[in-house]
Amino acid sequence: MGCVADERLLAFRFDCGAPWLNLLATRGRAFGGRPVERLYSPARLTEWLARGELAPARAADRSDLERARELRETLRALALPTVAGDPPPADAAAALTGFLAAHDDPVRLATGDRLTRPAPATATAALARVARQAVDHLTGPGRHTLKTCPELDCRAVFADTTDRRRWCPSPACASRGRVRALRARRGDGPASPPAR
Ligand SMILES: [Zn+2]
Repeated sequence: MGCVADERLLAFRFDCGAPWLNLLATRGRAFGGRPVERLYSPARLTEWLARGELAPARAADRSDLERARELRETLRALALPTVAGDPPPADAAAALTGFLAAHDDPVRLATGDRLTRPAPATATAALARVARQAVDHLTGPGRHTLKTCPELDCRAVFADTTDRRRWCPSPACASRGRVRALRARRGDGPASPPAR
């Protein structure tokens, strides 16, 4: 750690199109041989939440961090089949239902200069807000805008409302993919990426 490349690798991504999709992206290269854990400490989780205007009243602790990583992988397990048009795993759906039931967070709106909700009491309560957005996104019409990055070590899920993107918003994926496509066209590489 400490070198520029590592820092870039550990930077959070907020370009996936929704807070819950950005949560998925806190594990980089999730399907490669060396995944990158960007939520590596409770303080890092507090920072991630704060950058999404979900700073909890009490800073995240170890158990919040564990729940965040668990929730992230549950959401990933539900998102990938949803994008592919496959049936989602029942155990992940049950886990998400259970998480939301255990961390009910009733909406209490306040008016003032603008419409607000009180800050979530804990990081887990903040995560419950993110999880609820995921549920609405995955079960509503917004699910049709979801795509999976074709880079096999990435497979980031992102929202593409304009339907113009092929790769996830990470510039690295698009440039790698284009180089491969170019090689294939010139005939000095595999004709298509290997099937997963
Ligand atoms: Zn990607």
